[in-house]
Amino acid sequence: MKLNIQDTFNKELPADPITENYVRQVEQACFSFVTPTQTANPEIIHISPEMLENLGLSSDDALSEEFKKIFTGNLVLANTQPYAMCYGGHQFGNWAGQLGDGRAINLTEIVHNDKRWAIQLKGAGKTPYSRTADGLAVLRSSIREYLCSEAMFHLGVPTTRALSLALSGDEVLRDVLYNGNPAYEKGAIVSRIAPSFLRFGNYQILAVRNDIETLKTLVNYTIKHFYLEIEEPSKENYLKFFKKVAENSLEMVIHWQRVGFVHGVMNTDNMSILGLTIDYGPYGWLEGYDYGWTPNTTDSQHKRYRYGNQPNIVLWNLYQLANALYPLIEETEGLEQVLADFGTNFENKYLDMMRSKIGLFTQDENDQKLIQELENNLHLTETDMTIFYRNLSRFQKEKPEQGITIIQDAFYSSIEEFPKITEAWTKWFEKYSLRLQLEKETDTERAEKMNLVNPKYVLRNYMAQLAIDAADKGDYSLINELFNLLKNPYSEQEDQKKWFAKRPDWARNKVGCSMLSCSS
Ligand code: AMP
Ligand code: MG
Repeated sequence: MKLNIQDTFNKELPADPITENYVRQVEQACFSFVTPTQTANPEIIHISPEMLENLGLSSDDALSEEFKKIFTGNLVLANTQPYAMCYGGHQFGNWAGQLGDGRAINLTEIVHNDKRWAIQLKGAGKTPYSRTADGLAVLRSSIREYLCSEAMFHLGVPTTRALSLALSGDEVLRDVLYNGNPAYEKGAIVSRIAPSFLRFGNYQILAVRNDIETLKTLVNYTIKHFYLEIEEPSKENYLKFFKKVAENSLEMVIHWQRVGFVHGVMNTDNMSILGLTIDYGPYGWLEGYDYGWTPNTTDSQHKRYRYGNQPNIVLWNLYQLANALYPLIEETEGLEQVLADFGTNFENKYLDMMRSKIGLFTQDENDQKLIQELENNLHLTETDMTIFYRNLSRFQKEKPEQGITIIQDAFYSSIEEFPKITEAWTKWFEKYSLRLQLEKETDTERAEKMNLVNPKYVLRNYMAQLAIDAADKGDYSLINELFNLLKNPYSEQEDQKKWFAKRPDWARNKVGCSMLSCSS
């Protein structure tokens, strides 16, 4: 197996001088060297062929004993020095101090086809940042991360990727419901891949500790490797860097809103400095379109990270990053301008994105109102987001009276007995029909374009759960089926129509389907 190893993070940034693996505060350093823990009986259960190729590996490599050992942490690649990153973060709005890679270990960075990839194992054992936890991950959360991160990529959403999903062979104790009933579950390890796993929290921890020198080193490093368009370090360029991070984060959250992805734990330690979706935990997919929905039971009271609040939270998190970068810029004006622009940029980009979802490719001054009314209607009764938008592409602009028939499959219960809801939709379709007269596309052309932004298949919460239940019994076929299905989320896939369906009733309140908790 030949990987083109090109480490930078653990070569160019200050390391924790202590190399023993025990829990501690790590200062004046960006990471600690740590070796993954050996596991009882590693077994690879799925591999992403695209990621294999991206890393310059072959399918023969994937079958090797070496591959299995490396990507489960049982063998350290020659000429590499695995490490865990030091970061802090605001959790649910409060500064939580040092967090760090408590159960993620970075193996190395490689360059293939001019692209840099960092390889990280999640669930490979304790690190100096494990605090009171075990450094491990269970099969269910690993399946969820593995399937969802690759699915998001194919949806066109900026995200970290995944190369492999493996069982460790060890058992892991977890209290799924946090109700004092812990049970053993199968341990698992996902190898995650991204150009970099740096988070807002990596910068925050240095600023909070007033370690401006290391902060500067880390920002310079980030710009040098990942924000190549920005030139030599200067106050002006640090501001440019912040502006770019804000743009990338905005882009990411607009995509989330487009596909109905709810991250669930948008703490600043889970915000990628590259604007990638990172740390798939208690995430969920909107079924009923609902601004107030969150899959995360840990957040069920305040619903801080609910669907409709995600853009605000990105902005809140950017404020925290601005505070962390301030010591390098020493002027608030520019930072404040970027934060103020975020609001305007969001309005514009959100509007454009929503236009594209309903097949409007020109601008009209009443579009915002039309879209607002649409979103109001979607909240009138439980309405499946994915089915609604996908079916809307069948709308014929001369036949507004057929609107409700076209979308009715998206309703979780019939609206027949609710004349007010029928009336609201009838009105909306009439306006929509008139608005479409301003567009040049035929119905067919519009449908084609809409179907490129409105996925037919997403990883509904219950689908992941079905794959988990089967995998728990040793059957990995559903993981493979969903993995392949979600490679082409915008195409019809006639033989897979069973996945284009509303959430079944049994899944409404089932743990794992719509109720999940942090850190499993
Ligand atoms: P999360 O909510 O998953 O983003 O995790 C928040 C923090 O807790 C991060 O620093 C994680 O590394 C750490 N963490 C989560 N689960 C574990 C675990 N099982 N063992 C050690 N650290 C963990
Ligand atoms: Mg995290």
